[in-house]
Parts: sequence; structure tokens; C-alpha cells
Amino acid sequence: MPEVLSIGGVPATTLAKNFRTPLYVYDQGKIEETIQVFKKNFVSRQFETKILYASKAFQAVEMLNLIADNGLGLDVVSGGELYTALKSRLSPGDIYFHGNNKSYDELNFAFVAGVRHIVVDNSMELEVIATLATAYKQEMEISLRLNVGVEAHTHEYIITSHIDSKFGMAYESAECKKCLERIDSHPYLTLEGFHSHIGSQIFDTTAWYASIDILTGYLRDFPQKLTLNIGGGFGIKYTEKDAPPALDGILQSLVAYVESTGVPIGKLMIEPGRSLVGEAGCTLYTVGYQKETPGKKYYFVDGGMGDNMRPSLYQALYHCDLANKMELKKSETVTIAGKYCESGDILIKEAHLPPASPGDLLVVYATGAYGYSMSSQYNRNAVPGVVFCKDGKAREVIRRQSFEDLIRNEIFTEKNAKPIIPVFETFTIGEVAVNEG
Ligand SMILES: *Cc1c(COP(=O)(O)O)cnc(C)c1O
Repeated sequence: MPEVLSIGGVPATTLAKNFRTPLYVYDQGKIEETIQVFKKNFVSRQFETKILYASKAFQAVEMLNLIADNGLGLDVVSGGELYTALKSRLSPGDIYFHGNNKSYDELNFAFVAGVRHIVVDNSMELEVIATLATAYKQEMEISLRLNVGVEAHTHEYIITSHIDSKFGMAYESAECKKCLERIDSHPYLTLEGFHSHIGSQIFDTTAWYASIDILTGYLRDFPQKLTLNIGGGFGIKYTEKDAPPALDGILQSLVAYVESTGVPIGKLMIEPGRSLVGEAGCTLYTVGYQKETPGKKYYFVDGGMGDNMRPSLYQALYHCDLANKMELKKSETVTIAGKYCESGDILIKEAHLPPASPGDLLVVYATGAYGYSMSSQYNRNAVPGVVFCKDGKAREVIRRQSFEDLIRNEIFTEKNAKPIIPVFETFTIGEVAVNEG
């Protein structure tokens, strides 16, 4: 009997038949369980705690509804992410707006939409916010994104001597001083606190400890209790070789460490992205042709870098199975390549799999974060759909793109119409005032 992988109680073969492949599949129960782990373990008796989902990892209105229903807040980094969030059940007051180059229009959108928290990257941005706050007579809580000079990697961290990241500013810098003074003197702006995000796929708490030491040091300069936001970056298991430490322990240690500094803080916040959705998601592909070269055996699949650009972008590693033949011995070492016109379109370099035939289903695990959200339509391959599975039921939360979707925004003369000589309209783009008058 062939053994079929089930996701949230739904057989992969059923999913492939009903929704076609490639397909992003999420185990909704697993997302909800992970949210609970965060909520139960990120608590303190000394200060308030808040968990913000860094939604760039995976945005869909239904995903954000899950976040809202479970009482988490949200990070957005663009007008588009904010727009999506506003379609969900999240209240605008629970949205934090991040980004190093938020445009005037994006910031204006945030004010109009009722966003109350902005994480500011630089003094020029703050100036635009100050103008808008005055114009709307609207209060805004400002966190400053600080570059603490700590860079976390999976198993280690480095204290960088020069801090030239495109994100944030050094606390000691003139830039930061200018921001603090501007907030202080502005009737509608208040300093909420400091933010720092030191990296991604972090397996070890010591890098956070280093950043907490530095940040709490800054907080001592202020009489009021401020918010400390220590960012995201909690590591997940992509392959058999990854052994991230248990989340509950990490969260408890972080809270305990902040408590141990003795610095009074108003609120402690974290911003998990990958760790909330990564392992709960997988991608189903259909195996197509196979090819042997002198050194390699290829299995081609019906997706690739368009639905998961992480392997080509930064040599990310993944684990896979034949979802419709889970019982078979993995006797083959093969390269899983996609269908895109790019030599780098390799999903897995050395995959251990049973012998496969065209039509078999390949599942690549832990694609729930930065898969769909980084997808492209390269080669005019439609972006796959997204399905949530729970208790044996599957529901589509993002429909697969159609060919029609691919040309939806194109403006062109119909095939049988006479060609017209195009007349280009000219627009004068109005100047946007960013200084207070
Ligand atoms: C990307 C990002 C996160 C989330 O990172 P993960 O590695 O997905 O947890 C959190 N905060 C900020 C500011 C980020 O840029």
C-alpha cells in the first residue's frame, strides 16, 4: 500500500488533485500551536509583553486573521502590507510600521488608516512623520530602530566595530540625538522605545543577550519606562541537520534575562516571522522528467525559483519526500531542479529520495516563510495558490494565478484591431511638501 503524506489531516494526493501543483500548503493547527507557545512563554511578572508577527514572512488576509484572533500584533514594512493588514480583523492600533524608506504616501496612509506605532529608521523619515502629525493633529508613538552593532548568525554572533548597516542608527550618533530631540519637542510625537533586529535563523540566545545589554544600557538614560523591542530571528528546522533549541526555553530565557538587568521597562516586544509560519508550511510539486548527466541525476519539478527563491538567493537548504510514496526506501541521491530558465534554479542539490516516476508528488518541507512572500512570475509562470489545512479540511486562502492574471495590468491593442499610433500623455507630478510651514 502506498503511504501518502497528510497535512492537517488532508492527504497530499487530494490536495494536488483539487488545487493542482505547485501548491503552498499550511497546517493551520501547527501555526496556532506555535502562536500558543509564544504566548505562554513570553510573559513576565515585571513588565508587559507583546508579540508582533513580522508579516513579511507570509502575508495573506486569512493568515492575518489568525494573528488577530489569537491576540498578536503585526509588523508591516510597506503600504501594500499595511493595505493587506487593514483588510484583516487586526485593529490598526496593533500594527507597527517598519522600513528604512517609507514614502510620504505610505506614511500618510498609515496616519489616515489609524496606525499608532511607527518604527523610525532615520531623521529624514521622522521629519515627514512630524509634518503629518502636525497636519492631522494626530499623536504617533515612535520607536527608534537602533543598530547595536551585534550581528547574529546561526551559532555565533559578532560585535561589529563599524556599524554601516542600511537599517537603523547608532544610539551615540548625531542622527539619533536629532531624532530624540525632535520627538521631545513635538506636541504629537512620543518616544515609545527602542527597537533592534540582529539577524535571522538564530539558534543561540547569547546574541540577544548582547543586544539586550546594550539596549537596556540606553534605557537607563530615560526617566520614563520605555518599550524594548528585540526583533525576530528565531531559528527553525529546515533540514535534518538543523537542531534549533526549543522555542519555549528561548522565550523564557529572554524574558528572564531582561528581568535580570533590573532596568525598569514598560513593555518587552518580539517580532517572530519565520518561526511562526516556516515549519507549518510546505510546497507540493509534481515530478516531471528526469535526466542523467555524467555527474548527476536530475528530477525536474513543475515549480522552482519562482515559488521559492531562497535556494538560488542564498543557498538555503531544504528537506523533501515523495509525498505519495512515503513507504519507499530512499535509495537515490538526486538534484531537484525547477522549470525556470536559470541554471541556478535548483531547489535541492542533494536530495535523498526513492526512485520517482513522472506524476509523483514531491513535498519540500518548511517553505512557509519567505516562500510565497518572495514569489515571482518569472518566465510567466503563475504564482501558485495557498491552502490552509485543519482537521481533515482544506480551504484555499489565495487562489492560484491564471494566465489572464498574468496580463491583467497590461494595456495593449486587441489582436484584430488596427494598430494605433500611441499618444503619450504627460503628467506633472506635484511637489510634495515635507517641511512644516
Ligand atoms: C525580518 C524581520 C523580522 C522577522 O525575522 P524572522 O527571521 O522572520 O523572524 C523581525 N523584525 C524585523 C525588523 C525584520 O526586518
